[in-house]
Amino acid sequence: MMSMFSGFYKRSRQDRITLLYKERNLAEENLATLVEDTNLPETVAGKMVENHLGTFSLPFAVLPEIRVNGQSYSVPMVTEEPSVVAAASFGAKIIGRSGGFETYMNKRQMIGQVALFEVENVEKAQEFIQKEEATLLQIANQAYPSIVKRGGGARQLTVEVKEAFLIVYLHVDVQEAMGANILNTMLEALKQPLEAMSQGKTLMGILSNYATDSLVTSRCQVPIANLALNKADATHLADKIAWASLLAQVDPYRAATHNKGIFNGIDAVVVATGNDWRAIEAGAHAYASRDGAYRGLSTWKIEGDNLIGEITLPLPIATVGGSIGLNPKVAASFDMLGDVKAKELAAIIASVGLCQNFAALRALVTTGIQSGHMKLQLQSLALHAGARVEEVADLVAALRKTAHPNLQAAKELLKDLRS
Ligand code: NDP
Repeated sequence: MMSMFSGFYKRSRQDRITLLYKERNLAEENLATLVEDTNLPETVAGKMVENHLGTFSLPFAVLPEIRVNGQSYSVPMVTEEPSVVAAASFGAKIIGRSGGFETYMNKRQMIGQVALFEVENVEKAQEFIQKEEATLLQIANQAYPSIVKRGGGARQLTVEVKEAFLIVYLHVDVQEAMGANILNTMLEALKQPLEAMSQGKTLMGILSNYATDSLVTSRCQVPIANLALNKADATHLADKIAWASLLAQVDPYRAATHNKGIFNGIDAVVVATGNDWRAIEAGAHAYASRDGAYRGLSTWKIEGDNLIGEITLPLPIATVGGSIGLNPKVAASFDMLGDVKAKELAAIIASVGLCQNFAALRALVTTGIQSGHMKLQLQSLALHAGARVEEVADLVAALRKTAHPNLQAAKELLKDLRS
């Protein structure tokens, strides 16, 4: 069946917005936000940071359709990098034809820690604190009662000895929030009782971004025959993608770039939904090194006639809290997504990461990424050289014919075009 989003990239900006408005039932105010390209109001931006000067723009785009757990989503993306959105759309189309992505998320909790030092008898203190788990969970919950009322709260407390530290880990169900402030408030409340129980000193009490209680897995299965028109080409391509996956498992130089490609997609959605991308990056890179070596977050394997892609990473994505409710574009993003809940959004984001990875690997092992990047790269170059919007197409056409299309060449060609 032909998707209603087919040829989306060829439409005008206005047409794209109208189509999204109709197909995704956007609210009138979000339609206005998109059409008028409304920015963060000064009154709000000025309260979000110190030394506020204004706002900083980045392109706001959409991956028109991706299939996750049998549902079709339009996914907002904020990125400055040419070809990221096009690559994601391409990947989503191919994988969508093969059934899309299936995801799995067991639980969604955040972990915080209180680090104690100069504890006289760490083993004795560890045992005592562990025995007092119920009392300590109660203290944590009393410090943030509203999360308990919402159905969440402190769930578990574990204690470990690491070198000179006695570390108490608190596991909290933070419902729809990312939970930094919820956890930090609870941990503050635990400091004094923990000092009394351990006869030690508190160094700090803080949320951990290594969110191993919020792991999400996304998986896709693409029939190899769907990868190319010709069977031999398709088999060869699947084989090379599997080799590329292996390379990212054994070489950290490749793994870093492999994961950067995944984050081209993930960060774009995380930013568009008002989430804290530093938190997501920090947690995922720590997870990529969990066995002591830094590895690719995704794998691709051939099983029978299929190419199987899989990614697992911590994604404590929020739908409330922080700056999420403040930015009008974020409200439009959530409307586009269909007012998803935190677990559903994490599933979509993991799938976008895997999808982006598929498109990048496919390009890398065939034509290389340069050819795909070129058109958008040349457009950026033309704008950089000072071309007006109406001059960009001609300048890009001229740049295509040059052997080394750099800024110098763009400036000279623009001069020629204008003369
Ligand atoms: P908030 O402090 O904004 O807390 C969540 C808010 O959402 C609360 O006000 C809560 O209300 C409200 N809320 C409404 N509905 C729900 C619901 N269904 N489930 C949960 N909460 C709900 O955000 P976080 O604690 O999530 O902290 C995130 C912010 O902290 C981000 O801006 C992040 O950048 C920042 N941060 C990050 C750190 C890190 O990553 N290490 C460290 C410090 C800050 P109520 O209180 O009434 O329950």
